[in-house]
Amino acid sequence: MQWKETKLYSVLHLKCPVCHEGEFFQAHPYNLSKVGDLHERCSVCVTKYEKEIGFYTGAMYVSYAIGVAVSVSMWVAMLVLLPELGIITQIVAISLVMVIGGPLFYALSKIIWANFFFHYDPSKARLPHPSTTPEQR
Ligand SMILES: [Zn+2]
Repeated sequence: MQWKETKLYSVLHLKCPVCHEGEFFQAHPYNLSKVGDLHERCSVCVTKYEKEIGFYTGAMYVSYAIGVAVSVSMWVAMLVLLPELGIITQIVAISLVMVIGGPLFYALSKIIWANFFFHYDPSKARLPHPSTTPEQR
């Protein structure tokens, strides 16, 4: 399996979960006027991103998991690496990262949720997979 075929590629590059080429979001996660806004369909494979109304409501569970993972990781890292920090400083540091990282975590939660239900299909990619022959496309 090549890197482009993995779900992690789709998540980290914020690409369509089916073809891994089309843009998933309308804008960068930190373009706050369009934060989390998806294209209706993929520009490459024409996959409709919203399978049903409210499909991305489940992304809040992913967002919660990301928030807990980041917060606990930061807290443990501060306990181990900077044990002299006070609890107020730790809370402020974690809160700052959660606020500043909020738009990115929101975008990641949506693309991770989409990757639970959509699967990579090399036949829908614009660029042929090296192992596929023209007859297979
Ligand atoms: Zn696509």
